[in-house]
Amino acid sequence: MVLADLGKRINSAVNGALSNSQDDYATTVDHMLKAIVTALLESDVNIRLVSKLRNNLKSKLIDSKSDGRSVSNGQTKKVIQKAVFDELCDLVDCKVDEPFQPKKKKCNVIMFVGLQGSGKTTSCTKLAVYYSRRGYKVGLICADTFRAGAFDQLKQNAIKAHIPFYGSYTETNPVKVAAEGVAKFKKEKFEIIIVDTSGRHQQEQALFQEMVEISNVVKPNQTIMVLDASIGQAAEQQSKAFKESADFGAIILTKMDGHAKGGGAISAVAATNTPIIFIGTGEHMHDLEKFSPKSFVSKLLGIGDIESLLEQFQTVSNKEDTKATMENLQQGKFTLLDFKKQMQTIMKMGPLSNIAQMIPGMGNMMSQVGEEETSKKMKKMIYVLDSMTKEELESDGRLFIDQPSRMVRVAAGSGTSVFEVEMILMQQQMMARMAQSTKAAQQSGNMPGMPG
Ligand code: GDP
Repeated sequence: MVLADLGKRINSAVNGALSNSQDDYATTVDHMLKAIVTALLESDVNIRLVSKLRNNLKSKLIDSKSDGRSVSNGQTKKVIQKAVFDELCDLVDCKVDEPFQPKKKKCNVIMFVGLQGSGKTTSCTKLAVYYSRRGYKVGLICADTFRAGAFDQLKQNAIKAHIPFYGSYTETNPVKVAAEGVAKFKKEKFEIIIVDTSGRHQQEQALFQEMVEISNVVKPNQTIMVLDASIGQAAEQQSKAFKESADFGAIILTKMDGHAKGGGAISAVAATNTPIIFIGTGEHMHDLEKFSPKSFVSKLLGIGDIESLLEQFQTVSNKEDTKATMENLQQGKFTLLDFKKQMQTIMKMGPLSNIAQMIPGMGNMMSQVGEEETSKKMKKMIYVLDSMTKEELESDGRLFIDQPSRMVRVAAGSGTSVFEVEMILMQQQMMARMAQSTKAAQQSGNMPGMPG
């Protein structure tokens, strides 16, 4: 059972209970709790944690005042939904504040530790990309001299992500490589220096010793342990073993995409009160999400997570472009160029499925249409817009209606059909009409009508 299935099963347990008018309130809640408990246990959540959640929900929902309650009552429904949401948040909440915030114009050293194959090197690049997009000057160091090919892997990732890197093909002492790399990047005023260390197949003494030695020379501001979520509740034992040897401050849980045991891992780590700061949700360099219990549970249940969406949108959107579009919108305009910029921003935000999960109701829709199909369509739209002249892009699109031969030219230039060009123009026209009606409504002091 993958995590999306867990979300669906919890949703159907709750919705099934809420639409049940046959049984009395207590029996209905009991059925719902049984279904939630089964789903969580099958997702490898520790039995002790599951039974705590069950007891908490039971005492919240079935108390002395519950006699005579009915699930058909709207207020009661809300109480049940909120209680389930809160308890799920509690299950994955490590109740510790984020230990470290990198400071701009200061040198912040972050050291990665973890077992081989956990996704350490991939996560180093992901984190470098994450901070680099937020305006930090970031460098990557490969202090893994144990695994052949480790430096090449980090180098390839770094080149792809345009992140400066440091490593050595000949030096065999990882402590020396780490120290040299940090010294070099510090001299060059890097704000975030990420040190990747070597992993082993199992927790062995030599690995722990090496971690401590590297840590002593690079003096990290933050040590992050990378854990593979597919090990489920065994994550607790692994994080404890590392904690005893290296004092790491936070955890990144990788492979949370498509792994049945992700819920088990996250709750197991949370129960040890170790802060999970990010989760890895895919192999791509943008597949890293800041972890927060509310966002996680919201996405799990398909409620959406507008806060993360906005944060991501602001990070990747070009401030100048956004400003120009906002100015146009204020004048009741929305040109084809505005349309193109918005499309490009959405495409830059990473895999569409990640974005869809943040939009209420979109996660399910996406899984029906498919990532590939949607992504293909969006790319085609950009090709069409790329084939337009500056005059056309800066227009409101009406010149295409006056001169349909323009559509034929754009279709030929972008390798699409006239019908596809027309569809894009129709979408932009719809947005332009919305911009106009918003402006008109602002002038008249009324609320604009919701678009269809
Ligand atoms: P390391 O040995 O700990 O440095 O692990 P790597 O970074 O080489 O990753 C091992 C494998 O896991 C690679 O195939 C990665 O692409 C994959 N991987 C890493 N993070 C994720 C993730 O969040 N999701 C998925 N699906 N795969 C991941």
